[in-house]
Amino acid sequence: MIEELVDFHCHLDLYTDFETLVSECDQKKIHTLTVTTTPRAWPRNFDLASATQHLRVALGIHPQLVSERANELSLWKEYLPQARYIGEVGLDAGPKFYKSFDLQKQIFEEILRQCATSGGKILTVHSVRAVPTVLNMIETYLLHTDCKVVLHWFTGSPKEGKTAVDLGCYFSVNSEMLKNHRHHNLIKELPVNRILTETDGPFTQINGRPSRPEDVKATLKEISAIKGFNLDQLSSQILCNLKELES
Ligand code: MN
Repeated sequence: MIEELVDFHCHLDLYTDFETLVSECDQKKIHTLTVTTTPRAWPRNFDLASATQHLRVALGIHPQLVSERANELSLWKEYLPQARYIGEVGLDAGPKFYKSFDLQKQIFEEILRQCATSGGKILTVHSVRAVPTVLNMIETYLLHTDCKVVLHWFTGSPKEGKTAVDLGCYFSVNSEMLKNHRHHNLIKELPVNRILTETDGPFTQINGRPSRPEDVKATLKEISAIKGFNLDQLSSQILCNLKELES
């Protein structure tokens, strides 16, 4: 019996029923990391999550918003002492966002420096078309610190996955990335003790509607099939991974 679920990357504040969803996750014991795309969203997310048992909130500046919101870095720094989880942060070198790539690198570098100095942070990191750069920066700024990194929606090769594992990274996997069979090889190779589940809702869909944290159940099934694991065992393994990550 699966009793508790993990959605380690979801944008709860982008749903129209944000507050309902917060209580739903808490009642259903879904350990949810609600990520923010701008530090302006921090106070409300922080207040709502703090009143629950199963939610965590992450302080972010989304790489896709950096071109308009780089000036919010000072606000991000202001909230940093309150935040244990950081995200969504990272790099996006896809065609739509490549123009801001240099600025994204500057912001991400400063975020990593700040995390290294503060210590004890857990980051959820975006790495679209930028895996080698992201991994290099993690190695440069975080390797000998007590910060931990979860690579969200990771689409690197199995070899890049191995590099990330050696750097101590975890991986939060969603059902959208498993639609691409190329990524099944990656999942096969990843050590099961580094895997978490996520939805990245509302940016992913299930049955024609935005995914909700509970939908990680479907992802658990897919991962267990790919790795040849029993579903209940995988589910408890992922809960253990979360505890280990947060220890
Ligand atoms: Mn996201």
